[in-house]
Amino acid sequence: TKEHIEKLTDYLWEIPTSFRKDMLVPARILASEQILDDIIEDRSLNQLVNVATLPGIRKASLVMPDVHEGYGFPIGGVAATSYPDGAISPGGIGYDINCGVRLLTSSLKMKDIKEDLEALGKELYAKIPSGMGKGGQIRVFSEQMDEVLHRGAEWGVKQGYGHKDDLAYIESKGRLAWADPSCVSQMAKNRGTDQLGTIGSGNHFVEVDVVEEIYDNESAKAYGLHKNQIVVMIHTGSRGLGHQVATDYIRIMINAMQKYGIKLPDRELACVPFNSEEGQNYFKAMCAAANYAWCNRQIISWEVRNAWETLFGKEKGQLRLMYDVAHNIAKVEDHVINGKNERVIVHRKGATRAFGPNFEELPDAYIAVGQPVIIPGSMGTCSYVLAGTTKSYDITFGSCCHGAGRRLSRTAAKKQVNAPVLKEQLRERGIFIEAGSFKGIAEEAPIAYKDVNSVVDTVNISGIAKKVAKIKPLVVVKG
Ligand code: 5GP
Ligand code: MN
Ligand code: MN
Repeated sequence: TKEHIEKLTDYLWEIPTSFRKDMLVPARILASEQILDDIIEDRSLNQLVNVATLPGIRKASLVMPDVHEGYGFPIGGVAATSYPDGAISPGGIGYDINCGVRLLTSSLKMKDIKEDLEALGKELYAKIPSGMGKGGQIRVFSEQMDEVLHRGAEWGVKQGYGHKDDLAYIESKGRLAWADPSCVSQMAKNRGTDQLGTIGSGNHFVEVDVVEEIYDNESAKAYGLHKNQIVVMIHTGSRGLGHQVATDYIRIMINAMQKYGIKLPDRELACVPFNSEEGQNYFKAMCAAANYAWCNRQIISWEVRNAWETLFGKEKGQLRLMYDVAHNIAKVEDHVINGKNERVIVHRKGATRAFGPNFEELPDAYIAVGQPVIIPGSMGTCSYVLAGTTKSYDITFGSCCHGAGRRLSRTAAKKQVNAPVLKEQLRERGIFIEAGSFKGIAEEAPIAYKDVNSVVDTVNISGIAKKVAKIKPLVVVKG
């Protein structure tokens, strides 16, 4: 309860190690007081305290204001463990490895597409396979699958799904070099055979938005964003392949933990030392699944570009990749802890990297303003583009929230929402929903999510990311 939580600043709260004797570091919550009051309601802070017991955890276990309960670790969580012998835990990354968001920008304005929204929704829905377990047109087997897992988005570009220039605008350039396909089970590869270019179910989407407001002219200009511009947001991950990798290695780690003398308050935190055989195999498989996800979002972009061209022609039909950011991943990074440079394994689960200006991986145009951070809200509210900051390194290991965050479980949302009515209400507000089922719409209703404005204000005011633009949905294709 709240009496155990200390206020560090207006936007940072701490549960000290004295709270429970198995905590190795304090647990910190980035939130306004109002958001904190909501967070206390569910089990996510209990999960955050559990994460503070992870072997080798450094500085603090952290959650962002979009936090909610997840498998073992809370969603909206960040945990950094010492390299090379600290823990790596699949639960700290999530089942949908490299779930993430990319944003494409167009040269069209609201007035150019006002009349075409419904047709655009139908065209996108027809071109982009969606729905649980749904496959697409592309098939990748054996050597080709290994190439996808090795090369990520680059494989997609090589096959003609996009431009070579796209790659510079993807986190890690759409490819993690440690990927090793031999660490990915045949079952996982089988599940991935026909799922490239598909969005999957529920929370995943392709959405056409209009830029409603610009907050920071310099960053917006660098990112190529301007008021009334039409943009496209894609949210999906590594589909069945990543899910199977997580399933396989959670099982392996539950069995291996004892050997390494690891005891945890919740077996869903299952982990092994990063430099153990099991840890290395998982990390290489996770990188391979992350590459698959980047390739998936690359191919979906190609599908979107095709739909765009069909409707608006070759000249007006250009879509530029603004950025692609992962929000379920672990990365080996260098951070300053207690004034000293340290290498750590940063787990981000429902958290986005938010690196500041002068980070050398960024494309030239972005280097002065920092990494783009893309924060979806819901199909009926709005979403945001922010820029990462140097301050985020001090507070959150260079991380930010990844969305508004769930407020209601899927079951609770289904009980409260009349989906056909909601669809009609959104349509009256000029938002066209294309979804496989009414059930999916109900589970993903705007009231199922927290208020994205207050979540984003929290990260903005606390300084871990800076607001650049607000975008508002026009067409939403839901899985
Ligand atoms: P997650 O990766 O946790 O499933 O989702 C990330 C975030 O996406 C959620 O926290 C929610 O705020 C947002 N979101 C879910 N559905 C939609 C949608 O249809 N459109 C937009 N713009 N955001 C959504
Ligand atoms: Mn996902
Ligand atoms: Mn996601």
